[in-house]
Amino acid sequence: MAALVETIPGLRDACDRARAAGGTVGLVPTMGFLHEGHRSLMRRARAENSFVVVTIFVNPLQFGPTEDLGRYPRDLDGDVAACEAEDVDVVFAPSVAEMYPRPSATTVRVAGLTDGLCGEHRPGHFDGVTTVVTKLFAIAGPCRAYFGRKDAQQVAVVARMAADLDLPIEVLACPLVRESDGLALSSRNAYLAPADRAAAPVLFHALRAASESVVAGERDADVLTARIRGVVAAEPRVELEYVEVRDAESIVPVVRVDGAVLIALAARVGGTRLIDNVGISVVGSTVTVDLGTLSAGAKPAPPAPPAS
Ligand code: AMP
Repeated sequence: MAALVETIPGLRDACDRARAAGGTVGLVPTMGFLHEGHRSLMRRARAENSFVVVTIFVNPLQFGPTEDLGRYPRDLDGDVAACEAEDVDVVFAPSVAEMYPRPSATTVRVAGLTDGLCGEHRPGHFDGVTTVVTKLFAIAGPCRAYFGRKDAQQVAVVARMAADLDLPIEVLACPLVRESDGLALSSRNAYLAPADRAAAPVLFHALRAASESVVAGERDADVLTARIRGVVAAEPRVELEYVEVRDAESIVPVVRVDGAVLIALAARVGGTRLIDNVGISVVGSTVTVDLGTLSAGAKPAPPAPPAS
């Protein structure tokens, strides 16, 4: 049975007890409305730890004033049922008042890695993420924390924060999970009207086309982003916000693909902002492409459109 815990002392005690009994804690921070991407993190945490905590908190600090905080999808009962099904020990679902009983005078800010990509287009977003994640880490105590590569910049930022601050937390990056047609799973996909939902996989097709260009020998970042723009331009319902090639760890822009990079993008589909990325590693003549995994039971994604 997954216990629903709503207080900070309640979660702290549960994690302390698990460690005192000789166990390890696996922490999966989320904003709820759980889907197969979240569940893949829970399964990894379950496989690697004796005690698994899923946190569900729609963190106001990480939303901009014109963003979707007020209508972010929520389903606590469904989320608890999903956690039960994944054999999670504790679901931590605090109120905003529990997490922020007073206006926070303290902000945790990671410099550099938060410049550009979503950091540029969502001012203050990563400060909100790193502040709440620091609080969750402080409440849970020493643990393994599981994050998805769907939010590749976020994982890099949180891993750097934990390293810089010597937090007793092992940050683990897990594969991006996709729908059978390639769309990256996201709680925000629930916003998509049917025609927008049908159009959205073009983002995956574009990233796949760019990765195929890398496999074929292309290394120039501008050529790769132009390839993506070209594929997405064929779908009028989808408007790119950014597409960039960046170093996967430092998140600095790169002009050529070498070592581990991310090709990351954000786009508007209808009124909904979606993000996606592919990880690519080039070491000598060996190219490794990480487009993530299809969700369990999904059929293979359709083939890439022909190169233009
Ligand atoms: P969120 O609830 O959207 O804040 O996401 C909570 C965690 O789940 C983050 O670490 C995300 O990167 C991860 N996550 C969300 N969507 C996916 C996905 N499609 N595949 C893998 N991880 C995901």
